[in-house]
Amino acid sequence: MRAMVLNKLGPVAQGRAPLDLQDVPMPVPGIGEVLVKVVACGVCHTELDEIEGRMPPPRLPVILGHQVVGWVERFGAGAGPAPLRVGDRVGVAWIYSACGKCGFCLAGKENLCVDFKATGRDANGGYAEYMTVREGFAYRIPDVFSDVEAAPLLCAGAIGYRSIQLTGLKDGSTLGLTGFGASAHLVLMIARHWYPRSKVFVFSRSPEERSFALGLGAAWAGEIGEDAPERLSSIIDTTPAWKPVVEALKNLEPGGRLVINAIRKEDADKDYLSRIDYPFHLWMEKEIKSVANVARSDVREFLELASEIPIRPQVEEFALEDANRALVELKTRKIRGAKVLRISR
Ligand SMILES: [Zn+2]
Ligand SMILES: [Zn+2]
Repeated sequence: MRAMVLNKLGPVAQGRAPLDLQDVPMPVPGIGEVLVKVVACGVCHTELDEIEGRMPPPRLPVILGHQVVGWVERFGAGAGPAPLRVGDRVGVAWIYSACGKCGFCLAGKENLCVDFKATGRDANGGYAEYMTVREGFAYRIPDVFSDVEAAPLLCAGAIGYRSIQLTGLKDGSTLGLTGFGASAHLVLMIARHWYPRSKVFVFSRSPEERSFALGLGAAWAGEIGEDAPERLSSIIDTTPAWKPVVEALKNLEPGGRLVINAIRKEDADKDYLSRIDYPFHLWMEKEIKSVANVARSDVREFLELASEIPIRPQVEEFALEDANRALVELKTRKIRGAKVLRISR
């Protein structure tokens, strides 16, 4: 089968091709697994963290991709034909597996599992024509979504859903979003649905993203570093940088919470952290919380919610062999909306 394979870590930049188009053996579904024929796979910022070594995969080569939409092709021993059946359209998300036995798993926090395995990092993902996954870690995709629309819901959407829950927001209290990419624009749609009386304030360095946010119903949009017109009870940061963290703390009201929805931060502006002035940025019981991974319940609940609202993400399609170009464009933030590899029809 054809796959875009990560053989070597390095910077993602114009004129470099971090992934190689290769013909690799078809995966064979093991015990309890399904073989998925991949139709579409979203391109996520986390893939930049993997390729550039901020979160290197434990073994190379590996096939990236954790927003996978495809068809159940066949079952390994002990899997199927229920609840999934051959021919079902399913999604695979960042959570590839969890142990099911540790304290976190038993407490419903499988995203924090001591043996958490990520799709496209600890196991081969969806930048390929086929992949395998344990059947309990594949989700039926609601019919309202096209294949490419469903892909970004599986990561950007599911983790956005998790982050908005971690804010502890109540209807009527103010929400800020720093950065306005794939995840934040879905968070804005959830917030408008769940908390119709809450005003949403968006901070972005890009004028296009700011007008996109206003078009989706944000009450205000400004530059990162600007003072919001009101103090905010919670803020979700989806940027890879540090300046937005410091500037967000300034905009929080007493007792407010900043939720950092980033798996890794880049170090380029880390010295900005030294600007933190304790009484101004942190005192008055302000909190900082990070979001880690997703649980299967986040994915399932978000897919259901997204089909109800309905949320239709804006997507831009690339061919599998153009994955390198999609990654460069994601890094340089050329175009808004989610990037999705279209692998088959
Ligand atoms: Zn992702
Ligand atoms: Zn566990």
